[in-house]
Amino acid sequence: MNDTLAVLHARLIDGSGAPAVEDTTVVVADGRITAVGPGLAAPADAQIIDATGHSVLPGLIDAHVHLGGLGFTHHPPFGGRAATDDYKAARDGALAYGVTTQRSLGDFLNDALEVREETAAGLLAGPRLLTSGPSFQVEGGHPNGTVWGGDPTTVAAAARMPRTPADAVTMVDQLAAAGVDLIKVIISDSAFLGEPHPELKLPWNITEAIVTAAHAHGLPVAAHVEDPEDALRAVQLGVDDIEHLLVGRAEPPNQAVLDELLDLMAAQATYLVPTMIAHQRGATAATDARTLRYGSRLVAQAHERGVRLGVGSDAHTAGMHGWALQHEIGMMVHDQAIAPLKALSAATLGNAGLLGLGDRLGTVEVGKLADLLIVAGRPDQDISDLARVSHVIKGGQLLVNHPEQKAS
Ligand SMILES: [Zn+2]
Repeated sequence: MNDTLAVLHARLIDGSGAPAVEDTTVVVADGRITAVGPGLAAPADAQIIDATGHSVLPGLIDAHVHLGGLGFTHHPPFGGRAATDDYKAARDGALAYGVTTQRSLGDFLNDALEVREETAAGLLAGPRLLTSGPSFQVEGGHPNGTVWGGDPTTVAAAARMPRTPADAVTMVDQLAAAGVDLIKVIISDSAFLGEPHPELKLPWNITEAIVTAAHAHGLPVAAHVEDPEDALRAVQLGVDDIEHLLVGRAEPPNQAVLDELLDLMAAQATYLVPTMIAHQRGATAATDARTLRYGSRLVAQAHERGVRLGVGSDAHTAGMHGWALQHEIGMMVHDQAIAPLKALSAATLGNAGLLGLGDRLGTVEVGKLADLLIVAGRPDQDISDLARVSHVIKGGQLLVNHPEQKAS
């Protein structure tokens, strides 16, 4: 089989945020990018993709997914690989929309690890996978006591509920030994469901024990946080990224707290993964438009203050894999007035940095792994072109091939 591939005549959007370059050649061999430049000739033995009228970008990275859903009845069932055909909907949806790497933040531990390995070995077609396995939460709190309805199978496989800091350390040690890529904590008082329940929030001494133990293993910590004061405390404890923020808050955030939070995040290089689509799709009558407005203002502020933005969809909770990430990128452009090149860079190079893969992924650059997305049109000018996917290449392998996706 021919494993040299050349993309010719593409508009290059390299993921760094730099302006697009016309008529670029990208050569791929042995799974890596071996040449990039305007007008380069293709190697004689290369399989050719003529990308005239198309753009080539790094494969998209989704920093927040749940492979098995979260149990809402209008989505596929939460569960492990047995209940979800080996997470086929997640894998296929992601690839169809150009997502070549996903970070699972709360899934069945063993199943997510197995599918990660089988995908890496080429036994299953799908994005590269990083996973936290289960998430740390409080018994009766979110999500075990809310969306999962206490389902014992789900709780056993996808939750860790330490009662003491010592319990927490043991559990982190076990997850590290099992081979997770990071640790996920959920700091939620379930206010997004109506009434806040502060007693169901992960205690701070346990959170601190988790962060310390995780970092001792070299594992980053992603924190689901809804309230700005909680986020400030979590960032002070050293979590590596804040997921969501402002979900379901009925009151406007305290601006002084927000200012302190965003300045500290910028100083400590803590990422914000706002999952705006989850706010939008999860909005209820009680928490609707006001939350969205505060959330919107917050993301724009964070960006202006130099906070690193990651991009995550919270699929399945927030819609189908792949599509949901593209929708989130569209919201960054349309609702936050973030320039398309910057939004695309956040979903590629930015997310690669968040995932600790910035040396291997995130840009179209010689030496990097050949994860490429080719779309018809110019997504740096019209972000909706990002959905006009013609080819998806992961590790040099052509996994999606729709050459009929015509340039307009
Ligand atoms: Zn989530």
